[in-house]
Amino acid sequence: MLSQISAQDACLTCGACCAFFRVSFYWAEGEVMPSDYVEPLTAVYSCMKGTNQQQPRCIALDGIVGQQVSCSMYESRSSSCKEVQAGDSQCAKARHAHGLIPLIDVDIIQPSNNENFDQVC
Ligand code: SF4
Ligand code: SF4
Repeated sequence: MLSQISAQDACLTCGACCAFFRVSFYWAEGEVMPSDYVEPLTAVYSCMKGTNQQQPRCIALDGIVGQQVSCSMYESRSSSCKEVQAGDSQCAKARHAHGLIPLIDVDIIQPSNNENFDQVC
């Protein structure tokens, strides 16, 4: 059965991208994050702990991927985290890796009555 859910709700039951990519960012972004959540990657880049490994999983991700998740530092998440949008190609790649079907974005067309439209009553 197909269902319609918002992108935000989809993410709350997913979390795949937080457990698939290496989440790296310019080091200065990490200054507002909990220091024990961040590790240096290069001279100018840092990454979220847990994501620079063979089976990545961000240290800030709570819950079970594909069921119910939340980000424990959502307000201070990196630009890389914000880059992935529900339904985009990165999202699809991460979801596929976790055995989840890709999201599809649909435009809901609201019916509008006009003179050419046959009405029932
Ligand atoms: S993979 Fe897509 S749906 Fe899942 S949390 Fe990331 S952006 Fe949201
Ligand atoms: S900081 Fe939050 S949004 Fe970013 S990868 Fe980690 S759990 Fe996901």
